Amino acid sequence: MSAAFGWMDAAPVRAVMAALNAKGEARFVGGCVRDSLIGRPPAPLAKGGEAGTTDIDVATTLRPEETIAALKAAGLAAHPTGVEHGTITAVADGLPVEVTTLRADIATDGRHAEVAFTTDWAQDWRRRDFTINAIYSDADGTLFDPAAGQADLDAGRVRFIGDPDTRIQEDYLRILRFFRFTSRYAAAPDEAGLAACARQAEGMARLSKERIWQEVSRLFATPNAPAMLAAAEEAGVLRQVIGASARIGLFARLHDHLYPDIPEALAVAALWPDAGPGMLREAFKPPTALIGRIEALREARAHLTRERGAPLLRALYRFGREAVCDAMLLEAAEGREAQDWLSLLSEAERLRVPVLPIGGRDLIAAGLAPGPALGEAISRFEAEWLAQGCPADEERISALLERVVRERR
Ligand code: ATP
Ligand code: MG
Repeated sequence: MSAAFGWMDAAPVRAVMAALNAKGEARFVGGCVRDSLIGRPPAPLAKGGEAGTTDIDVATTLRPEETIAALKAAGLAAHPTGVEHGTITAVADGLPVEVTTLRADIATDGRHAEVAFTTDWAQDWRRRDFTINAIYSDADGTLFDPAAGQADLDAGRVRFIGDPDTRIQEDYLRILRFFRFTSRYAAAPDEAGLAACARQAEGMARLSKERIWQEVSRLFATPNAPAMLAAAEEAGVLRQVIGASARIGLFARLHDHLYPDIPEALAVAALWPDAGPGMLREAFKPPTALIGRIEALREARAHLTRERGAPLLRALYRFGREAVCDAMLLEAAEGREAQDWLSLLSEAERLRVPVLPIGGRDLIAAGLAPGPALGEAISRFEAEWLAQGCPADEERISALLERVVRERR
């Protein structure tokens, strides 16, 4: 067995598997097996090989309550994190392991499944989405690969298990998962899968915005995101999600520059420059902070392009470092004068962000009466202070303060 499977021998992992195998049968499945096969062990236990991003998933013949009992009998913690679909989180020595009862989806409506627990491995693998996601391993590393996922993984193919149209109709989120997994594990989209995604795209209307956002945002940070987003746009999948067309070229240049760390806000701003906050909320219900960051970067961008050559400190003062840097990255990705923007960016990353050094209290202490004149005086001070390049030294600040107070008295 390759070094990437070494995590299976870690004491906490052994403890969980031994507890489950004492009462039933348990196998690793999903990302932890798939990624170990390509040399990327689960993140918390990456010793041999490059650290992966996946967690540890285990499938078991035990029912959820039996899983809890088996874990507790072995002195391990068991948290019912998703008990309605059979998932218990086991924690051994601080390491979480997701343990899910074998199941069959007996009724589906395109977004939820009514599940039946089973002890039949054949039912469990058939309800999984892609062949590469249905590779199991027992505690000793013996593989059980009923859908021939390993051959697909080696060949760089992401294929649905069973008929793609049928599998998508059970859960339309699989369309977005198809693009995400293809980006990570395949050279090009599987034709049958892609055609089914295009045919079924309309069904995505029934998905919750939160699930859509979760998948789409994970897609941004995958290695072939530009090509996959282009394929998803062409298949009509993205247009089903959001009412604006995607600018793949801009996103691609941003991705080239930033991968693997692409802030979600930047990705969205690059892909859908014409989508306002209302449309973004309607499409994704994203976290409020994301909309805020996009709005801030747009304002900073308008300012920076309108006032080329204006002092950078002023922009940093008004918009903050994050928005200014985001705006510059996007301008650089536009490709016009990219080098100029990148050197401005390194300056913006380095410079101190100015903070207005006085407040109303300072003006009152200097002799100004409280009231509306105070606000005006602060604005006056701010304008002068900005004009002077945001000085931070005491002397210049007090001189400026005195002057403003004198004018107002
Ligand atoms: P990663 O965690 O690296 O994204 P993963 O394969 O572990 O990859 P999870 O979302 O953690 O992905 O799901 C674990 C497993 O559950 C998958 O490998 C797959 O077998 C199954 N699965 C998850 N979501 C679906 C779905 N919507 N339809 C069918 N099977 C699914
Ligand atoms: Mg996983």
